[in-house]
Amino acid sequence: MFFRRSKQEREALQQPFPDAWRQRLAYRWPMFTTLSPDERERLEDLVKRFLARVRFEAAQGFTVTDEMRVLVAAQACLPVLELDLDLYRQVTSVILHPRTVVLKGTRNVGSHLASDTDQTLAGQAHHRGPVVLSWSTVAYEARHHERGQNVVIHEFAHQLDMLDGMIDGTPPITDRDLRARWVTACTAEYRKLRRGEEGILRPYAATDTGEFFAVAVETFFTVPVAFAEGAPELYALLCEVFGQDPAARLNPAP
Ligand SMILES: [Zn+2]
Repeated sequence: MFFRRSKQEREALQQPFPDAWRQRLAYRWPMFTTLSPDERERLEDLVKRFLARVRFEAAQGFTVTDEMRVLVAAQACLPVLELDLDLYRQVTSVILHPRTVVLKGTRNVGSHLASDTDQTLAGQAHHRGPVVLSWSTVAYEARHHERGQNVVIHEFAHQLDMLDGMIDGTPPITDRDLRARWVTACTAEYRKLRRGEEGILRPYAATDTGEFFAVAVETFFTVPVAFAEGAPELYALLCEVFGQDPAARLNPAP
């Protein structure tokens, strides 16, 4: 399916990417500096388009700055760098809270709980609705990717999963052979986690298949070298699905 770029997007693309944004990204998100010049240029174009499409809202009493919008947009766009920004076409807005939100009532599908005990929420993805994020978590995890968590990538992975209307851990993979291999590899790793065995993914991935996918994607992009060593088959499949090899980016061949 082809979506025509909106007038706002075309206008945004004609503007240069501000150097101040580039500097803030490099400081806030060290992963940005590991991209090749070509990848960085394409990511910057995606960020411009993303910001032209997605509305940012602040929780009451909070102010969203350009720096916040750019940091969220850049991390959200990394998974679709080799795919298509239209994969996020259902994302209407991003709502930023200053800190984690205390969860009231029942747990919504696609929620990312920072902790299962105090029920605070670092992020939440809604089907055809907003992505809710805690700015303090976004900023901390961008700076410390070696910890293997990234709430922005996590919640946008849920958006990819939700494209077909279901949260089932299967993103839109059109190639039938790849899809079959994906389901087989994920099922094996997911069952291992459910049995309580240790794997490359943190235990939260055993919550359900939707969380398994979101955690797999954030682990793939934050600690790819460890992922490639710990679960080479699943890692290779994620490389195929996303058209990227993040471990090679961090450990370039000599
Ligand atoms: Zn989640």
